[in-house]
Amino acid sequence: MPYKPSAWSLIDLFPAQDSPEMKAAFDELDEKVIEFEALRPTLSADMSQGAFLQAIHLLEAISRLARLIGVFASLSFSANTQDQPIQAFQSSVETRMATITNRTLFFSLWWKSLDEAAVQRLMAASGDYGYWLEEMRHFKPYTLTEPEEKIINIKDVTGAMATVNLYTTFTNRYTFQLEVDGEMKQLTRGELMVYARHYDPALRAAAYQELYRVYGNDGAILGQMYQNLARDWHNENLDLRHFSTPITVRNLSNDIPDDVVDTLLGVCQDNIPVFQRFFRLKARWLEMERLRRYDIYAPVVKTDKMYTFNEATNMVFDAFQRFEPRVANLALRVLEQNHLDSEVRVGKDSGAFCASVAPDLTPWVLVNYQGKPEDVATLAHELGHAIHSQLAAEHSQFTFHSALPLAETASTFGEMVLLDYLLARETDTSVRQTLLFRQVDDAYATVMRQAQFAIFERQAHDLVQQGMTVDEISAAYLETLHKQFGDAVEVSDEFRWEWVSIPHFYFAPFYVYAYTFGQLLVLSLYQQYKVEGEAFKPRYLSLLSAGGSKTPEKILSAAGIDMHAAKFWQGGFDVIRGLIEQLEALPVTK
Ligand SMILES: [Zn+2]
Repeated sequence: MPYKPSAWSLIDLFPAQDSPEMKAAFDELDEKVIEFEALRPTLSADMSQGAFLQAIHLLEAISRLARLIGVFASLSFSANTQDQPIQAFQSSVETRMATITNRTLFFSLWWKSLDEAAVQRLMAASGDYGYWLEEMRHFKPYTLTEPEEKIINIKDVTGAMATVNLYTTFTNRYTFQLEVDGEMKQLTRGELMVYARHYDPALRAAAYQELYRVYGNDGAILGQMYQNLARDWHNENLDLRHFSTPITVRNLSNDIPDDVVDTLLGVCQDNIPVFQRFFRLKARWLEMERLRRYDIYAPVVKTDKMYTFNEATNMVFDAFQRFEPRVANLALRVLEQNHLDSEVRVGKDSGAFCASVAPDLTPWVLVNYQGKPEDVATLAHELGHAIHSQLAAEHSQFTFHSALPLAETASTFGEMVLLDYLLARETDTSVRQTLLFRQVDDAYATVMRQAQFAIFERQAHDLVQQGMTVDEISAAYLETLHKQFGDAVEVSDEFRWEWVSIPHFYFAPFYVYAYTFGQLLVLSLYQQYKVEGEAFKPRYLSLLSAGGSKTPEKILSAAGIDMHAAKFWQGGFDVIRGLIEQLEALPVTK
């Protein structure tokens, strides 16, 4: 039977938000939290290993049940963002979940306060929970007293968090004007940025100019919000908690050593010429003397190739099947259990994601399938996430989900498996060229752009500390762009405002390098696969199966990867350079 785009079913979670099953789940959750709170006086350095494990099991059951309810609410909302009862349900769930988090918080505070001898004794019996327990302890040296922590939490709500919310609310209201085919359009940022990939060079330029006109108008205010957040980050994390540098805070929560991040970003700096070479090549294809910053995502060839949903799913399954039947079956399970929402509907979330709920449940996947080649790639990407979490199903609720820097491994790898499959079969030259160019476009956006963002963030946090003005920070930003693009790309002045338009800088400082990390890792892994074939697969599958049960360092070294070595990261860039050379060898077509 051919596959057709459809909505998902959430029946494996709950029949409905107002069902007896949902009410029963809430009741059970309440009972379990009360039971857990009753354990508080029994937590002690000399408690038995059995009692310790029992407490963890109970906390895990609470966490699993809360996750089931929470995911049901958020998936219902994604499937229908305009439905008011669903909106109301989701906010009531969020509030109840925050209360549960507070009521169970005493466990992690107690665990962090224990001395090393007690920790060693209890850890010995912790089995698969080991890494989750160990990770909590990483923050011990930076944890303040309970009253201090409480004050920070209370003041954050109206301080840093409020500033981030203000930034989000403020910038989400922006509308952009763009003249398209003689008609003035009112667009959201997402709609505007579609024109950054348009065939018409004038439209690409106009889209970017409009974007930074709007952000630049409020540049002084947005910049001030950033300065406040960077100061708050410094005051709390360096002055009070005694982290050594601003980026160390993020590195610790990613569990990636500082020297690895320094090496990663250093290798990126060394490889600036690789993408400059790509931009020169692209200029030739676009028949331009020199590329403008407006043109870096421009399509080089016209193609309107479309795939039906049935063709797309069959291609993805076939590509996965050829890689490894076990992997293909895990992807297939998402469709067979009706956990994929693939159709385009009014009111549905316009993005794409995979939601892993619990180790024993097949994840839910949302895409908006419209038939373009990138929609097929997105399908492979999100199903890759679903494969990753199912491979890690042996682990606990706390350890099956991989850490951020490894979270994009199976998804990106799945896309590459699909790309190779398509390149081997596609006879239409323009489609092949589009696929190859898009891969380097994406590699730029994920690897180099995000690395440069992280490098700028390091500098910006210093500049704020030195008391620099918003205009001085903008000038520093523009300078990093000039360094990055050299004489390969012309960067016009309005790009000085790009930094105030990057939400990650506000809500999650230094988050962005995880993208660079993940993408270079997969490029290197894929290269190993091409060289080693079958021999590579068990190593790769066990990397995925580890989920979040060990430190990223241990998971990678078991797969033969030394993340401290510059040579490893350079391997990712070598793959990108290989792709560019492949493109350079093609005759320029129009
Ligand atoms: Zn992803």
